[in-house]
Amino acid sequence: MGRGDLVFMGPPGSGKGTQAQTLVREHGWVQLSTGELFRDHLKRETALGRAARGYMDRGELVPDAVTVDMVRERLREIPAGTRIVFDGFPRTVAQADALDRLLGELGRRVDAVILLDVPRQEILDRLGKRARAEGRTDDTPEVIGKRFDVYEQQTRPVVEHYERRRAVRRVDGVGGVDAVATRLREAAER
Ligand code: AMP
Repeated sequence: MGRGDLVFMGPPGSGKGTQAQTLVREHGWVQLSTGELFRDHLKRETALGRAARGYMDRGELVPDAVTVDMVRERLREIPAGTRIVFDGFPRTVAQADALDRLLGELGRRVDAVILLDVPRQEILDRLGKRARAEGRTDDTPEVIGKRFDVYEQQTRPVVEHYERRRAVRRVDGVGGVDAVATRLREAAER
């Protein structure tokens, strides 16, 4: 039997998206980033994109039902033997429960949750820089603060949910990109 799927977690700006991308490319896995999927819908101006825009601009979570439907659609396109790295999903306990159901229907399961640990001040510095570099409209100080609060209130319980299953592998996210990548690779391959 092949290995199960991975969930990448970490506060906004922890670098998990970029790191997941590198790891996935190295191994021929597939990254499923709900943030990227939403941004793609925004760009294509789909109905889903229009539904998500306000939440994203305010730094709030898009409602679970919309998010889960989008993930369900994307999962259909991924071949059975391919390992998935979920990035930015699940972000609520309800999404974690939905993910278990969706994966179960496909004969898949979450193998491990990799949590990238980065202190808050370090992240605030990094996000400020990223906003300027990428021109993302959800990286203003107000929206950054909001996304942090949302993480603490809604996503932290997801970490606890997976900790009860002993599925969480913590990785120190402070340091150079390559050093962090090495730690992540080790955690993902364990
Ligand atoms: P990200 O790029 O992962 O930080 O996501 C950008 C924005 O997309 C978030 O601030 C949310 O508004 C929305 N989003 C991404 N993933 C989710 C999710 N799993 N549940 C709800 N909203 C999400």
